[in-house]
Amino acid sequence: MGKILIIPKKVVTADAKNTILTDRAVEITDDKVTSFIPINEIHKEQYAEVYDARNLTLIPGFIQTHVHLSQTHFRGLAEDLPLLEWLRLKIFPIENAHNNESLKVTAQLSINELLMGGTTTFLDMGTLRYGEVVIQEMIDSGIRGFSGKCLIDINDLYIEFKSSTNEEINEIRNLAHNYHNTGDGRIKYSFSPRFVLSCTEELLKETKEIMKDFPGSIYHTHSSESVDEINEVRKRFHKENIEYFNSIGVLDDHTVLAHCVHTSENEKKLLKNKNTRIAHCPSANMKLGSGIAPIPQYLKEGISVTLGSDGAPCNNNLSIFNEMRLASLIQKPIHGTEVMDAQTIFRMSTIDGAKALHLQNEVGSIEVGKKADLVLIDLDSYSNSYSDSDELVYSDIVFSSTIENVRSVMVDGRWLIKGRESLVYDQKDLVAKGKEELEKLLKRV
Ligand SMILES: [Zn+2]
Repeated sequence: MGKILIIPKKVVTADAKNTILTDRAVEITDDKVTSFIPINEIHKEQYAEVYDARNLTLIPGFIQTHVHLSQTHFRGLAEDLPLLEWLRLKIFPIENAHNNESLKVTAQLSINELLMGGTTTFLDMGTLRYGEVVIQEMIDSGIRGFSGKCLIDINDLYIEFKSSTNEEINEIRNLAHNYHNTGDGRIKYSFSPRFVLSCTEELLKETKEIMKDFPGSIYHTHSSESVDEINEVRKRFHKENIEYFNSIGVLDDHTVLAHCVHTSENEKKLLKNKNTRIAHCPSANMKLGSGIAPIPQYLKEGISVTLGSDGAPCNNNLSIFNEMRLASLIQKPIHGTEVMDAQTIFRMSTIDGAKALHLQNEVGSIEVGKKADLVLIDLDSYSNSYSDSDELVYSDIVFSSTIENVRSVMVDGRWLIKGRESLVYDQKDLVAKGKEELEKLLKRV
């Protein structure tokens, strides 16, 4: 491949000391960052490529810990509904109508949007059928992430959208066997029971058992998102949602629970003691009217909290910038202006995201020896801060920037976006295919 040299204005490393470097070029050899070189010591002739980006800031690729690649096609099709109605009337019927072709296009639309916005790693919830289509698209695109079949063996909300317990168990064994640690190690398998109300106890427990054969995989589910949902969980199990998960032994440090908006004090203790990870999705929690998760309290307790945009129909964006901004702003009127500062939020969407997924030795910060998952962002636009002080960098990214500020994106040492041009997808063609497949998909609902 040859070495690449990037010469940025600054490097925001997200290392343990929050180091910000100036006058340093970053050397990339194959898939890794191999050196920070003082600008006056550069020998340009040694490199296959020198990217002069002295007007741009280099940051780690963003990490989203809860997304639904299968739902991007449904953006705008499920408005103004609360969670259970949103699932029953819109999401489950439409998701059930996916075939191979529509799922491939929706995965492409999702990966394109995530990459254009600087997200280089994600944890995907998957969908009921054709799980291999999404994973193959992830492999082909060059992005990094986890995906796996979404597990549903009970469905009182939409009866056609489920499978049998045995089929679910057989299929996840095969998929994990075929895809865990593929794509040069970029792709890992995630075991994804949809939520308590859509899975038998046998399926939830057996999935956790199977997971032990695939080190580095993740157990990914939704929990305690809305009041109606937790009331239904209480009715069925006479327990709180997270207490139920604990009673069947599925909580540990490889479990990621999306949402955790409504939790009791005992559940908070369980999350802390089991070292279970929370994926916070503030846009989705607002849009579905679910509530505001007690994130400052979780952080104070030392519970892992990271960010995700959830699915396009409950957001209606996949932008980490929206989630970062909202994650901070929604808490300030409740807990005071000092909570959720920009640096904390930036770490939640970079290095803390990596830690939540046990990828901190590979990604999440810009350090020698780590993978080159990098984003060049323009912080000198008319809508950014006019000061070059290092102290303002985090608020400039978290509060003032949008996906429009992202210029170039590298994953595993390969440019996937350069100068806002995708090197993976022809965007015009992709949107046209998206419209065409959506029309066909809606006829199958
Ligand atoms: Zn979700």
